[in-house]
Amino acid sequence: MNCYYCGTELIHTGDTRLDNDDEYRDIYDMVTFLKCPRCAATVETYRRPIHVISKLHTAREKMLVNFLLAVVLWGTGSTVE
Ligand SMILES: [Zn+2]
Repeated sequence: MNCYYCGTELIHTGDTRLDNDDEYRDIYDMVTFLKCPRCAATVETYRRPIHVISKLHTAREKMLVNFLLAVVLWGTGSTVE
């Protein structure tokens, strides 16, 4: 994975499991930390656990996906059918 700002390959600096974290465990099960050796940017990626991914097809999520799709299509000049 490369740095968003300068394109240099990021260095993996660690993972933290979130399974036992009351604030995150229902949404994410792990956070991974990366840093850029060139420009010192830091990146955190949060992993969705499988039980959350399977719930992504709820009406609320579909609504969000449709909204985001509409924004993308608006950006391209198309419309949602
Ligand atoms: Zn960088």
